[in-house]
Amino acid sequence: MKKINIEELYGKKYNYLILIKEVKSNDRRRYVEAKCKCGVIKVFEWDNLRSGKSQSCGCKKKEKMIGREHTLYRIWRDMKQRCYNSKCPAYKYYGEKGVFIDDRWLYYEVFYNDNVNKYKKGLELDRFPDRKGFYSVENTRWVTHKENMRNTNRCRLDIDKANEIRNSDKNTKELSIIYGVNMETIRNVKRNESWTI
Ligand SMILES: [Zn+2]
Repeated sequence: MKKINIEELYGKKYNYLILIKEVKSNDRRRYVEAKCKCGVIKVFEWDNLRSGKSQSCGCKKKEKMIGREHTLYRIWRDMKQRCYNSKCPAYKYYGEKGVFIDDRWLYYEVFYNDNVNKYKKGLELDRFPDRKGFYSVENTRWVTHKENMRNTNRCRLDIDKANEIRNSDKNTKELSIIYGVNMETIRNVKRNESWTI
């Protein structure tokens, strides 16, 4: 069988892995060094990389285990939507305002590991101490919905947004998500009462 010239494939992507270079090969087995999407560099058997038997440093399997059904996954996905998806209704108040996510947290596994011991059911991710800062392990904390609303309602709504809410044909729940305030606040605004609690 013709021996593949691995050098020509340097930089090629195999699932989560990018081939860096061939290392310590012998007649029977060839080995390569590859960098995983998560940053880990490891040596793999070339055949396993090529065939797809090795698809990541191990983090892909773990990602599956920690599951897309996990609430942290939903929280992570919603955070990314707010910051990077201009089609997301809340983007206006995040991405468009320059709120972004620390590079490390663009990987769900890293986000998960940083938060799994801090997160408890029902808690919300709050940017703190810098309310205008970006999402990172240093600038976030987990708070109850009530605390979160107390902290943010005042600065999230102003007279312009209150008017938008009054003129909108969206329902209370949708508006509460779009403006990041609770439904009670939306109802108060719609009744032409104050837009702060
Ligand atoms: Zn990895």
